[in-house]
Amino acid sequence: MYRTHTCGELRPNSINNTVTLAGWVQTVRKFGAITFVDLRDRYGITQLVLAESLNEQLDKTPLGREYVLQATGTVRERTNKNANLPTGEVEIAVSDFKILNKSATPPFTIQDDTDGGDDLRMKYRYLDLRRNAVKKNIELRYAVNRATREYLHQNGFMDIETPFLIKSTPEGARDFVVPSRMNAGQFYALPQSPQTFKQLLMVSGYDRYFQITKCFRDEDLRADRQPEFTQIDCEMSFVEQDDILNMFEGLVKYIFKHVKNIDYNQAVERMTYDDALWNYGNDKPDIRFDMKILNLKKPHHVLSQKQDSRQLIEDAGFGVFDNAETVLAIAIPAAADYTRKQMDELTDWVKRPQIGMQGMVNIKCNADGSVKSSVDKFYSEEKLKAIVAAADAKPGDLILVLAGKEELTRKATSTLRLEMAERMGLRKPDVFKMLWVVDFPLFEFALEDQDGGGAGRWVARHHPFTSPKPEEIDTMINHGPKVDDLEKYLEHPYARIKANAYDLVLNGNEIGGGSIRIFQRELQEKMFAALGLDQHEQKEKFGFLLGAFEYGAPPHGGLAFGFDRLCAILGGSESIRDFIAFPKNNAGRDVMLDAPGEIADKQYKELHIKPAQA
Ligand code: ASP
Repeated sequence: MYRTHTCGELRPNSINNTVTLAGWVQTVRKFGAITFVDLRDRYGITQLVLAESLNEQLDKTPLGREYVLQATGTVRERTNKNANLPTGEVEIAVSDFKILNKSATPPFTIQDDTDGGDDLRMKYRYLDLRRNAVKKNIELRYAVNRATREYLHQNGFMDIETPFLIKSTPEGARDFVVPSRMNAGQFYALPQSPQTFKQLLMVSGYDRYFQITKCFRDEDLRADRQPEFTQIDCEMSFVEQDDILNMFEGLVKYIFKHVKNIDYNQAVERMTYDDALWNYGNDKPDIRFDMKILNLKKPHHVLSQKQDSRQLIEDAGFGVFDNAETVLAIAIPAAADYTRKQMDELTDWVKRPQIGMQGMVNIKCNADGSVKSSVDKFYSEEKLKAIVAAADAKPGDLILVLAGKEELTRKATSTLRLEMAERMGLRKPDVFKMLWVVDFPLFEFALEDQDGGGAGRWVARHHPFTSPKPEEIDTMINHGPKVDDLEKYLEHPYARIKANAYDLVLNGNEIGGGSIRIFQRELQEKMFAALGLDQHEQKEKFGFLLGAFEYGAPPHGGLAFGFDRLCAILGGSESIRDFIAFPKNNAGRDVMLDAPGEIADKQYKELHIKPAQA
């Protein structure tokens, strides 16, 4: 036996016992003739004391950082106790030790606060993983994985693997492809998700499926994306939307309980996509705090859609508002005393190119109930007070107003809302609040090419297997997808069709999303047609699914969670990379493996492909 205990295990009740530990040398300190070693393993650190009698051996092979050591000795009470270490009350008086392996000097310190930069740590990820800070994240990931399996098992779900070498599944990204050696000129695609397989499993009768699996999407990597990432992928038959929402908010609550020891007892709100957009400016609202967005002036396509048509401001000779498509406001609690300088800084903040606003208007709600605004000249006090009332602002609050093109202004207001909450400390990483966003649009208009399929066409907002709301099916069938005026695509009936699709949002992050599926061949064909696939393409790409729908497909639906992100949020971090044992960098590279890399000429030949011309 290499060891009798781990380095995190020993407590005063083992005093006088003889033990053997094995682990890595964290530090070596010499005090006079005596050598102190902190020995580390996955479980903790224990102090070893190497007496003078061992010095001859130590002189022959001095110990270095990260050496692998086996030490036997007696547990004794420590004189200088270390309250920061669980083992800090004891130490091992070592009588015998053996170096199991030497180590080169590590390129950075294996400590919580390491001196290694990102790139270096990624290059030596196997050393980085020894650090407590990273280990904690990997442990949390395992705890989430385990709780997920427990809950789903208790609820009758079966884990069924699906293949990686497949034909394209459209989730809106580019495919990674793999050339086939045995089928010259042909390629597999790696799954963007197991979507079609899980639907086929429903046709096969496995009415509760799950898989914690890798998905592959060849996207330009924004800050927090990975080309391969993990999903908790689930599907159920004979269910309606509510059954799914209940089942999977249950899963997240179970994870909260078993991973974070949090009793999440509140009801999980269900908010429509439209409400999320109009009240919070995006489809993944952070509802840990309120600060709703107030629409002072709505764009034409919204007014024409029988939504709340109240306009709080009309033309008043103030060009910025008069000419704007939309005017949005948020009330910032207790910020009316912002100085001129603070206001200027905020205005500069919204003018940064990433936000793209031209300026910002403010309305201060004074303590005495009066209002003061940068647009006093154009709007009567009465009007301004009506805005204050509509924004539910209290004396002492500050209302910030942005105006411009609809999408730009909405996004800017949403970002401003989050920024202000951040500055006020309202986005606490240890407070969790989730909600379902439901009734997503079925289609989205791709002004630019997203997936290699071309620009200026309708794409599925979720994916092509998502069912429209039953009352919207006629609209989908009766109107063709053709958009005559690209500028006015929002006025096309397709822009208004809603889907049986839902996202689970936690602290302003989409952690999961799914839909009730189409399960009739005819409707699926109509959906494909709406997305511009002709009969031939439908057959070629999805013939297998359309075929399966002819053999008794049950009503079904499901969702998938972004497992990496869920772990990051539970760990209070912004970055999913910290929760992946071997992640890729922003350029999609594994700097440890130095992948992707070149292949030999012979491999090109075998795969029937040619190297790119320089
Ligand atoms: N396959 C979908 C996705 O990856 C999830 C689902 O609809 O179940 O987003």
